[in-house]
Amino acid sequence: MTPPTDYDVVGVGFGPSNLSLACAIQEWNENADSPRRLRALFLESGSRFGWYPDLLLPAAKCQVVYAKDLATTRDPRSRFSFLNHLHLRGRLHEFFDVGDPVPTRQEFHSYFEWAAAEVAPMVSYGSRALAVTPVRDAGTGRADALTVRVADGSGERTVSTRTVVAAIGGSPVLPPSVTARPGGRVFHAGEFLSAFRRHCPDPGGAYTVAVVGSGQSAADIVLYLLSEYPGVRVEWLTRSYALRAVDANPFVNAFFRPGTIDVFHALPEDARTRLNNEFYSTGYGIVDPGTLQELHRFTYQEGLHGRSRLAQRPLTEVTSAAEEGGSVRLGLRDEDGTESLACDVAVMATGYVRTTSGELFAPLADLVKRDDRGELRLRRDYSVDGLDDAAQVYLQGFAARSHGIGDEALSNVATRAGEILRALVAGAPGG
Ligand SMILES: Cc1cc2nc3c(=O)[nH]c(=O)nc-3n(C[C@H](O)[C@H](O)[C@H](O)COP(=O)(O)OP(=O)(O)OC[C@H]3O[C@@H](n4cnc5c(N)ncnc54)[C@H](O)[C@@H]3O)c2cc1C
Repeated sequence: MTPPTDYDVVGVGFGPSNLSLACAIQEWNENADSPRRLRALFLESGSRFGWYPDLLLPAAKCQVVYAKDLATTRDPRSRFSFLNHLHLRGRLHEFFDVGDPVPTRQEFHSYFEWAAAEVAPMVSYGSRALAVTPVRDAGTGRADALTVRVADGSGERTVSTRTVVAAIGGSPVLPPSVTARPGGRVFHAGEFLSAFRRHCPDPGGAYTVAVVGSGQSAADIVLYLLSEYPGVRVEWLTRSYALRAVDANPFVNAFFRPGTIDVFHALPEDARTRLNNEFYSTGYGIVDPGTLQELHRFTYQEGLHGRSRLAQRPLTEVTSAAEEGGSVRLGLRDEDGTESLACDVAVMATGYVRTTSGELFAPLADLVKRDDRGELRLRRDYSVDGLDDAAQVYLQGFAARSHGIGDEALSNVATRAGEILRALVAGAPGG
């Protein structure tokens, strides 16, 4: 018999993926008889909800249309839709009049915050999950439940649950030869606003800022610096020759539809890899065409007045970064050889890596199946392969290899939350 547990589901991480699941659970619980309601707890290490808060730049836009929100593709009648959020704030008509289906990141963030407040009783902020451990039946050895060890402001505690849904996002990646000390002048884009304001506090200051990377975050940061800081000079270092625009034509977008996931999941490994490689450039290392136009217009206008605050250095690799007193010296390599560049701060907009090989899942080692890179294998319903007993772990955002690279984006968050909810309610993994 399954042992009693504190919860039916414990979510680890409370970004958009598990927020979307919390909304789905909330709606399920509002409509279900009490024995069928899910007892849910979501653990978030941050002290409040935040969707990359240090990159909430005024002009930065989402890379999805508003309907790819927390709920609409799961249930277009859901009260957790972006449109309902606008309606409640009396902004529906104003939004439509903008004539752009892609909201700013700031507006989507305030929508996420509203939804997070609606489900707040399920969430424990300032709580980091340290390890997920199976609870085995003494007789059969079956894993009938799980415990999650949690660290919070007052120490450590353990909660028990039937299932865990982990949506822990990625960890910042720096160029191989670069290290960043906490609070230092070399920092990842994910810390941008706090770190930049700390080291460059004068809004009119004549700072030199190096920005490394050629994706959306790099472009948003460069545009922000040029627009908001009249004295700043930007050195933009990219390994590629030219910045590239997102390809969001409807035939490309079809790859990210939920129905495609079924097809993708059933393909052999090498075909999946080929497809992911083909579509990689639709989501990574690319920039929204509007942002590119805006950047180009900005620098063109400056040139008209004999100014040039943006220096682009294409085909350039950062080989070292050293802090020297109040500045940074970067080692660079390009087609012509090596050189060094002095700047006040260096922003590494060099992406994130997602891995399931950390301590969190280590206690499950002898139960779960891993792929050739050591990552957890997932079934079609996002449950971890190998856990065949009552205890289950589901992952959100870690299925790029098995379900397609869209798994790391927002576009399928609501549909996936609906699928996981169905599996939680049915109590049986599969697919
Ligand atoms: C700046 C930026 C903008 C983006 N914009 C878009 C976009 O417009 N459209 C799109 O499709 N994709 C976008 N993406 C991709 C991004 O992956 C998704 O937007 C989204 O953040 C994925 O949500 P998530 O909840 O899976 O992960 P995350 O948003 O990364 O959230 C993970 C959460 O888990 C918490 N956490 C981690 N480990 C633990 C632990 N052990 N215990 C407790 N809590 C933990 C973290 O603190 C974090 O809050 C963007 C990415 C970035 C960096």
